[in-house]
Amino acid sequence: GADAAADNREIAQLKAEITELQHAKEAAEAANEAKTRYLVSVSHEIRSPLNTIYGYAQLLERDDTFPGVEAGAVIRRSAEHLTNLVEGLLEISRIEGGVIRVRSDDVEIRRLLGHIVEMFHMQAASKGLDLRLIIKDHLPDCVRTDEKKLRQILINLVSNAVKYTPEGKVTITVRYRSQVADIDVSDTGIGIAAIDLDRVFEPFERGGSQEARLQPGIGLGLSITRVLAQVLGGDIAVTSTPNVGSSFRLRVMLPAATRAVNDAASGDR
Ligand code: ADP
Repeated sequence: GADAAADNREIAQLKAEITELQHAKEAAEAANEAKTRYLVSVSHEIRSPLNTIYGYAQLLERDDTFPGVEAGAVIRRSAEHLTNLVEGLLEISRIEGGVIRVRSDDVEIRRLLGHIVEMFHMQAASKGLDLRLIIKDHLPDCVRTDEKKLRQILINLVSNAVKYTPEGKVTITVRYRSQVADIDVSDTGIGIAAIDLDRVFEPFERGGSQEARLQPGIGLGLSITRVLAQVLGGDIAVTSTPNVGSSFRLRVMLPAATRAVNDAASGDR
């Protein structure tokens, strides 16, 4: 009786361990597959600008009537594309390798938002786009987060919104409740088809639409943006309707920064 019960317990325990090992194995396999897919797409992406450089260099070498200025421009653009690819890759591997450090800066959030709008003012105006910042709730003067990463996220979102919007407007709307900010970057642009909505956050995914592919890009911006948002303890979500527009929402904790003791004594009372 007692022996049989002990045996049963042992068997149940072993079964649980086997199930756990199987799960671990499946997770490792899935991670490996993702890595392989990733490497395949990177190799593919790197090959095409390299082929272009190679081809034009050969033309220059063999045919001395071939216009060097034109070849130079194509080669430079391809090299730039490669540089962007490699930089994006480095950024992703830094993040995924866990080397990334999250700073805790005191950030003047309204000023940062204002800078982003200023930064894209010209580009938006040149397309006749109305670029606006709307702050719905009271924001603290200063919040605590990693300033460079937050700036990078916003730059990526606004730059996409301007890039993929032929006419109409781009609006940054900020809501703030209980230390959590919702920053929406909405546009009246080409939009994203439902089947592409999740994929656009994957590295090198550019979506299926012809219109999107007319714009320059390599499909790394959003994948980096999402990882950065997650590194800040937040996330990014998207809603979109083709030919109507898209809205990317960054939700992130932005705790109000209590000012340094000296500041508080001399500053506002
Ligand atoms: P890239 O712009 O270099 O292609 P991203 O990773 O920033 O790379 O974006 C991935 C894809 O998501 C884009 O190619 C485009 O199809 C789609 N996308 C991103 N932002 C927008 C937007 N605001 N409106 C419409 N499509 C967008």
